[in-house]
Amino acid sequence: MRKLWTPLLCVLACGGEEPAASDGTTTGSTAAATTSGTDVTTTEGATTTVSTTTTGTTADPATTTSTTSTSDDSSTGATTSATTGVQECAGELPAHWIDGTDCGSEPQVQVHQYSSDTWILRQSLCTSFEGPFMMLLFGSERALLLDTGDGDIPIDDIVHGLVDDWSQAHGGAPIELVVGNTHAHGDHVAGNDLFVGDADTSIVGIGEAAVRQFFGIDGWPEQIVQYDLGGRVLDIVPLPGHEKAHIAVYDPATGVVFTGDTLYPGRLYIADFPAYVASIGRLVDHLADKEVCRVLGAHIEMTNTPGEDFEFMQPSHPDEHPLELDLAHLLELRDAVEAMQEPVIEVHDDFIVYPL
Ligand SMILES: [Zn+2]
Repeated sequence: MRKLWTPLLCVLACGGEEPAASDGTTTGSTAAATTSGTDVTTTEGATTTVSTTTTGTTADPATTTSTTSTSDDSSTGATTSATTGVQECAGELPAHWIDGTDCGSEPQVQVHQYSSDTWILRQSLCTSFEGPFMMLLFGSERALLLDTGDGDIPIDDIVHGLVDDWSQAHGGAPIELVVGNTHAHGDHVAGNDLFVGDADTSIVGIGEAAVRQFFGIDGWPEQIVQYDLGGRVLDIVPLPGHEKAHIAVYDPATGVVFTGDTLYPGRLYIADFPAYVASIGRLVDHLADKEVCRVLGAHIEMTNTPGEDFEFMQPSHPDEHPLELDLAHLLELRDAVEAMQEPVIEVHDDFIVYPL
């Protein structure tokens, strides 16, 4: 999320501080982790593995589709090597996300098949400097769309097309599309209204009350509930702090935690610091006995130089940080915010803690 008033608020609240870049000199680094319970040792300078999945096959004027071949969401997608302790992920990420560097040719939305039943969509920075990511998760009975982008994209046509294709490939019976959001900010919900009145489509609704009601969360934000897509049960984790209706979604099938704007490689704007700290703690605790292979947020604002972010509203992202983070980053974030005596901007290699 970046709201247009954010720099102003920060000037007022942060004394005009600008996040200072670290003096890291390596490129493509991320924190490689050895996990034990919820503790972690980080090793600086490890290189992020970026999949070499084929990408960029133009499917129609609005989309680019890249496809993986052999992932199976029917069982746990994340496995842990007995010898290394490093978790292996079944899902594949593209070699390159559209990044606004070629507006003459890049599609409005890049559609990437992450695994057999999971798609990741990215809105072009040429249509919105936010360049948000959206997720589409299929079970046997319904599909959940997490976020609808920042507007001016045919997200309804794209997603309905994916749902129809999935249905045809799985017997032809229509399945329900559930349109939900990681949180209520405009760059994640702008396309919601495009789905109103569509056949076989339900919309969760925007804001804490709607989210609580739809998922049956009586004890917000402490209560974590499960939501069954049909043979694929997701954990819905209330995560207020960045925004009060924020949720995380943990997917045991792929071992992915979808963290929206709470954790991604960029500026982690925090509106309610105590709520945010508590939310991160609850998420870490919930994941302590789970297999986590990736943490996927909703934006990229870091470059491939450790600690360096793109300028606010920058319309293109050359040499962009990979989307994927991992459990070590979540633990690093937990430790950072819990250690703060008062909320301050703090630059890390792969994200920037950014209290408002
Ligand atoms: Zn946001």
